[in-house]
Amino acid sequence: MTAPLLIIGAGLAGWTTAREFRKLDTQTPILLVTADSGDFYAKPSLSNALVQQRGPAQLVSTAAAKMSESLKVTLLAHTRVTALHPLTNSISTSQGDFSYSQLVLATGAQPIRVPLEGEAATQVLSINSLDDFALFHARLTPPRTDGRPTQVLIMGAGLIGCEFANDLAASGFGVTVVDPANAPLAALLPPEASLQLRDALGALGVNWHWGDTVKAVRYTTPPNSASLTSPTQGAALQVELTSGVQVPVDMVLSAIGLRSETALAQAAGLVCERGVQVDASLQTSAPHIFSLGDSAQYGPGLWHAEAAAGSTPRQPTGGRTLPYVMPIMSAAKALAATLVGQRTEVVFPLMPVAVKTPALPMVVAPPAPGTPGQWLSAEPGLWQFNDAQGLRRGFVLTGSQTPRRGEQAKLVVA
Ligand SMILES: Cc1cc2nc3c(=O)[nH]c(=O)nc-3n(C[C@H](O)[C@H](O)[C@H](O)COP(=O)(O)OP(=O)(O)OC[C@H]3O[C@@H](n4cnc5c(N)ncnc54)[C@H](O)[C@@H]3O)c2cc1C
Repeated sequence: MTAPLLIIGAGLAGWTTAREFRKLDTQTPILLVTADSGDFYAKPSLSNALVQQRGPAQLVSTAAAKMSESLKVTLLAHTRVTALHPLTNSISTSQGDFSYSQLVLATGAQPIRVPLEGEAATQVLSINSLDDFALFHARLTPPRTDGRPTQVLIMGAGLIGCEFANDLAASGFGVTVVDPANAPLAALLPPEASLQLRDALGALGVNWHWGDTVKAVRYTTPPNSASLTSPTQGAALQVELTSGVQVPVDMVLSAIGLRSETALAQAAGLVCERGVQVDASLQTSAPHIFSLGDSAQYGPGLWHAEAAAGSTPRQPTGGRTLPYVMPIMSAAKALAATLVGQRTEVVFPLMPVAVKTPALPMVVAPPAPGTPGQWLSAEPGLWQFNDAQGLRRGFVLTGSQTPRRGEQAKLVVA
């Protein structure tokens, strides 16, 4: 029997690869192994679900069984892959070993966790999956008995932190955001746009603590089963900031960033840096193994050519992670072609990101990290980034200017 195309991970990258592959090949068996349920959902909707009154069940757009039936995929859900064996083209899982003809790593990323002091540090939540959201939603939804809004402290004023701050505040929850920078999205935006976002979210009721970080999370009352399962029965947690400020809250959400899931690849000897290093056709440093999505680091390596020549694979050549939806769509299409034998290099178009902060809608197309140059305010609500040679490398649109994303994208030099 033909060994299957084996995909690890049922996020957007895993399922989109299966869908694109099936458009080109209806016969080769596909085995998809995933640690979660395999239900298909749009992860970006996790950070604007509350205001739309959507719970975890409403966020599932297609159930796992339906996905696997329509794509002719054999799904092994709730199954963790524990090891890759590139020399024998096989993997080990919690349900046994499986062989593959080609392997796709679509294992996503994990929330970064910083060590915190305090006996309640384990109560800090991160949201990077439907299961994470279900836990967050369950803890948030019982209303407090004293009628006061449930208080949530968010660590991090980046994209995810700001989106949850907007969604929570607009849904009537108390929100405090703590960040070491001095304004939201400081690394992505020109300072003026960043201040506009700060003011817009502030007007919605978000409290900010700039230049500060969370030091410790403690219980205000001794933990018992009631306070853990229903933390809305009083300000259950006391958060101590590095500055010494104390913030009583009901919940702490960490949104300080993600790190590509590279553990399996690293243990199998694949070259990894910030993610699993792939070349332009998404091949890792091992033959027949590919990666895309949040797990991948897209770089200009030439693994297949070097492996064919029998040389030692080169060391990571840089490249970057692209933890967004649009790159996955481009990557999955190119990868499907490669998997059916038409080696195809992925080309990423400029991919502006819509920030889901209705208090101040934004479209952000930042320059590549480290590009020398400067932001210029072109018009109210429009900033353009020019590099040292005066070439346009990025833009930011806010408020009523956001519909101009297509027009501005055309002005950016690749
Ligand atoms: C709250 C939030 C809002 C976002 N909003 C936007 C947005 O507005 N626009 C945008 O472009 N991007 C947004 N993103 C980013 C975007 O959603 C992600 O880039 C994308 O969903 C990543 O998909 P993925 O398939 O690579 O990873 P994931 O969805 O993380 O999937 C990884 C899969 O791998 C499985 N897995 C991992 N390890 C193992 C193992 N050892 N064994 C078996 N299975 C394993 C997991 O169970 C999971 O099924 C947002 C992200 C978040 C968290």
